[in-house]
Amino acid sequence: MAESEGKPAVSGRQELSAAATPGAPAQAPAQEEAARAAKRIFARTSPLASLSDEERAAAIERGRALFARPPVFVKGVADMAQLPDPFEAEIAFAGRSNVGKSSLINALFGRKDVARVSNTPGRTRELNYFSLAEGRMALVDMPGYGYAKAPKSLVKKWQALVRDYLRGRPSLKRVFILIDARHGIKPQDEAAMDLLDETAVNYQIVLTKADKARRDALEKLLARTGEALMARPAAHPEIHVTSARKKQGLEELRAAIAALLK
Ligand code: GDP
Repeated sequence: MAESEGKPAVSGRQELSAAATPGAPAQAPAQEEAARAAKRIFARTSPLASLSDEERAAAIERGRALFARPPVFVKGVADMAQLPDPFEAEIAFAGRSNVGKSSLINALFGRKDVARVSNTPGRTRELNYFSLAEGRMALVDMPGYGYAKAPKSLVKKWQALVRDYLRGRPSLKRVFILIDARHGIKPQDEAAMDLLDETAVNYQIVLTKADKARRDALEKLLARTGEALMARPAAHPEIHVTSARKKQGLEELRAAIAALLK
């Protein structure tokens, strides 16, 4: 099921070092320069960067339209038998607890209440199905992984559900793996990516909370993450850089999701 994207050409990866060169006048206040630098990073790392202006505008408009209406909550799935009939296209969001998943989902819809923002690690343990595009597409909010406090039996049950789901859901077009832009890929993320490679489910990295990461550190993290993805067969080569708080990288992410609905 992995799309044959060829191997990485993280758009603008080669240009990242150039992006690190501050081009602002020396008298510019540090804060303004930081904001400009952040914008440059977002522009250069945009997966839409290689498109013509017209194609880019069309892709963004499709994304905007897809997320303009609130999604309909379908159900929480705790067992494979509870899965709804397959949608034309399904996408899933996964990541460590506290990575900013709820905030990002809410920000994509421009709402506060789609996914409950919770600081309690591992609060939800179901595959939460939301329906978009009048029932053509599903967004699946996967439980945050890494809740060490949960009883082992529960963790095992959850892992089995996720494994079965990834293996047996051809309508699942892409899993977005959320990674905190300050921390990068952690062992639990690697385990999730291993599982996706093994089950040949296409996945893409989304860096979250980019507003909190220092610019130079973000550049390094992008380069390092891009390298790590080269060795991973089911990984999408481009990396989304987002901030739910500053509403950055959202247009691109919406566009990428809309592009999965033919
Ligand atoms: P979840 O457990 O993955 O759903 O994470 P949440 O969405 O609940 O976010 C965890 C914490 O990170 C909360 O305190 C959020 O306010 C914070 N957070 C989420 N997104 C961002 C962001 O883009 N920027 C910053 N600075 N903080 C964020």
